Amino acid sequence: MCSACLDEFAKGQTDAKTIGSYLRMDIGFTQRGIQVWCQRHDANIVEIDFAGFQPEADFRALIPKENKQ
Ligand SMILES: [Zn+2]
Repeated sequence: MCSACLDEFAKGQTDAKTIGSYLRMDIGFTQRGIQVWCQRHDANIVEIDFAGFQPEADFRALIPKENKQ
């Protein structure tokens, strides 16, 4: 999670009730791997470099049957 968001939340500078509701993150693929980005601070949270490896990924939306529409 974004350390700047966490700091603001910890100092009570937000109206958010939980840190989860305060965070605004994007996640996406980059040339090197995968990156998590803070929308609020327009800043990198973490970029994980796959170092050329292509790990298997499961892109299925595993939605419980009772919630299917
Ligand atoms: Zn942030």
